[in-house]
Amino acid sequence: MTYVREQSSTELAVHMRSLQKMPGWHDPLADRLWQEVEALKAEVAGLRTGYEAYERVNAELKAENEALRGVMSAVVSEIPGARISRAGNAPGHCHSIPGVWDEDNGSKAGKECAWCKVWNYAVSMGKGDRP
Ligand SMILES: [Zn+2]
Repeated sequence: MTYVREQSSTELAVHMRSLQKMPGWHDPLADRLWQEVEALKAEVAGLRTGYEAYERVNAELKAENEALRGVMSAVVSEIPGARISRAGNAPGHCHSIPGVWDEDNGSKAGKECAWCKVWNYAVSMGKGDRP
């Protein structure tokens, strides 16, 4: 027989259950503490299950993210004019200030160009610069 202090969790559980079944057993504090231990064990098991599910989903999302980076890199490199576009400007755009509409673009003047913004995001995503 192992001393209680040296018992494993499983041995302690078996020991406690055998004590509680003994005729004349009456130790409200031990019973209450054991109840608390079992509630905490159940809570830990629930948290472990949740964490394992989180890890599975996280791994799936990482794999999907890597696949999308590869796709984005291929798309960006295959778009006509991609290699000659000026840094910060999307292919076919030639803003003086990269990604910002020029003064002669009417109501868009000085505003951020949405297509250049998307393009730059796609380029950096393809390079793995984006999360
Ligand atoms: Zn633009």
